[in-house]
Amino acid sequence: MFATVSASVSADYREALDRLITDVIAPSAQQVDQAGTFPTQNIQALGEAGILGLVSSTDVGGGGKTLRDAAEVIEQLAGACGSTAMVVLMHYAALTILEQHAPREIRQAIAQGRHLSTLAFSEAGSRSHFWAPQGTATQVDGRVQLDAQKSWVTAAAEADSYVWSSRAMGADGRMTMWLVPSKSSGLSQPTGFDGLGLRGNGSTPVSAKSVELAAAAMLGADGGGLDLALTLVLPTFQVLTAAFSLGLMEAVTAETATYLSGTRLAHLDRSLAQQPTVRLDFARMRLETDRTRALLLDTLAALETERSDAMLRVLEVKAAAAEAALAVTDLAMKVCGGAAFRKELGIERRFRDARAARVMAPTTDALLDFIGRATLGLPLFDEAVAR
Ligand SMILES: Cc1cc2nc3c(=O)[nH]c(=O)nc-3n(C[C@H](O)[C@H](O)[C@H](O)COP(=O)(O)OP(=O)(O)OC[C@H]3O[C@@H](n4cnc5c(N)ncnc54)[C@H](O)[C@@H]3O)c2cc1C
Repeated sequence: MFATVSASVSADYREALDRLITDVIAPSAQQVDQAGTFPTQNIQALGEAGILGLVSSTDVGGGGKTLRDAAEVIEQLAGACGSTAMVVLMHYAALTILEQHAPREIRQAIAQGRHLSTLAFSEAGSRSHFWAPQGTATQVDGRVQLDAQKSWVTAAAEADSYVWSSRAMGADGRMTMWLVPSKSSGLSQPTGFDGLGLRGNGSTPVSAKSVELAAAAMLGADGGGLDLALTLVLPTFQVLTAAFSLGLMEAVTAETATYLSGTRLAHLDRSLAQQPTVRLDFARMRLETDRTRALLLDTLAALETERSDAMLRVLEVKAAAAEAALAVTDLAMKVCGGAAFRKELGIERRFRDARAARVMAPTTDALLDFIGRATLGLPLFDEAVAR
């Protein structure tokens, strides 16, 4: 979808990101939310600044940056515009597989910021249980035919490709991954998205009816998709979704501090910050935000040092951050009163945006189930659940 750009990620990408957020992304956030339009200009600018290729390997001209760097980017973007952050988050999640298994020219296009990808995992049939796709891949005359009803695909109409899950074609195993060009014949045309929050993320259903692909479009091995989803996509998705929730929390906490300090009760000649219960609620917001950052940093450290509890932290961090963001944005709605209820502070937008992470798969409840299983010595998946 994007014009050819030559983007190279230099050490000062943070400066470029700050500038983009201040000049382009933050100023358009309210309009993106209000109109529910995809933030094309933001994504294009992020591509040109090298942010879309940030975690691509330097071998193909990418930034070669780490998950920690990506988490910082998502946190900052989420503070400014949740919809933009979610589009970039899904692109980075898709990249975990593409970097390992996609053809070099696709990886180069991503590194240069001229190819946007996303995940097409969730399905109408198995819903948030992405580990049990119902969509099929069938061999037909040396080619492959995909049929499926994907229920949510972020940036569906704007992305250049989908990292697509299906049942295994012939091999054992629950899942196979595919690189599906978004303009493939047989894919439905995504329609508009009218959501409670993240109103510009363009997350719509996409169905595939006899979509034909070359056999080489398979990413990894037939039947090896679940392994790719759990070992490559999951850690990145979980960490980045936690960073996304953290960005929302930092933004509403900062806005709340400014509002409480600057708003006065004239008859008492005191600010809202000088009201004890308001102060306690604000302290709870700070505490939840700081606690979330500590868990996120610990998860990153666990992954970087291959600590034995790394996978447990990965499961925990998204659930904890999503629930904390719900609590923090709810408190902000309370202590900022009528001003938060109106759109002037941007708090009600963050309150709505924060609600997505709880139901994005793996959902909070699914994660709690996994955490319980992992810490009680039970298998992560029941055979009955996964079928
Ligand atoms: C803004 C947004 C963007 C998205 N983008 C993408 C995307 O790019 N790609 C993609 O593949 N998907 C995407 N999704 C889909 C997402 O990952 C989930 O699949 C979807 O939100 C689940 O909705 P559902 O109604 O199908 O949930 P359901 O599966 O019907 O779940 C409903 C409720 O039941 C609970 N529940 C279900 N099963 C269990 C269980 N075993 N244990 C405990 N609780 C359970 C859930 O926790 C949830 O609370 C997106 C979703 C949103 C909201």
